[in-house]
Amino acid sequence: MNIILLGPPGAGKGTQARYLVDTRNMIQLSTGDMLREAKDSGTEMGKIVADVMARGDLVTDEIVIGLIREKLEGDKAGGFIFDGFPRTLAQADALAELLEEKGEKLDAVVEMQVDDAALVSRITGRSTCGDCGEVYHDETKPWPADGKCTNCGGTTQKRRADDNEDSLKQRLMEYYKKTSPLIGYYYAKGQLSSVDGLGEIDGVRAAISAILDA
Ligand code: AMP
Repeated sequence: MNIILLGPPGAGKGTQARYLVDTRNMIQLSTGDMLREAKDSGTEMGKIVADVMARGDLVTDEIVIGLIREKLEGDKAGGFIFDGFPRTLAQADALAELLEEKGEKLDAVVEMQVDDAALVSRITGRSTCGDCGEVYHDETKPWPADGKCTNCGGTTQKRRADDNEDSLKQRLMEYYKKTSPLIGYYYAKGQLSSVDGLGEIDGVRAAISAILDA
């Protein structure tokens, strides 16, 4: 089963993807994570994308399509979760072609709906464990007082450089200009399902599971 999690920054795509990885043996393909890895390890591509990401702009279609193409060559286990990809119509077309080449198909596109005010507070309070990626929030799930991640015991709390109000404004603008047309695109293809991403994590999980099991 191959699915796309579609939604603005802060909608909870990463959190839900992690759950699907654990429970359904799926593989999370987050282009944001891949780009951050390239940036942190100082590759040529990482250097090219660093400023673009810090501003909250989108990196080129060519770069992200190349990253996804590479990953589709590897193990597919219980299927792929595309998280943060596609973000443009050109990327969506490229994904359809890549899947067809592999004899694969897209089983569902899950749109996670969250209003803008919630996104700002979710993102500006967000941090993750540097070791396992567990997601925390200053108000709703604070980093443990003993300094150790509840999931893995790791001691490095990380915040993303682009999780600040200025970058977020630009990321939201990019989302509405370039990514939100994908909602209509997948609706027209009969592949779109929507969930309310504002509720408790467990409720959102259940809603997504119901779509995938249907
Ligand atoms: P994310 O972790 O998905 O929020 O992505 C972080 C940043 O990486 C975005 O703000 C973009 O600069 C870049 N990025 C991630 N995925 C894509 C994509 N599919 N297309 C273009 N840029 C992307």
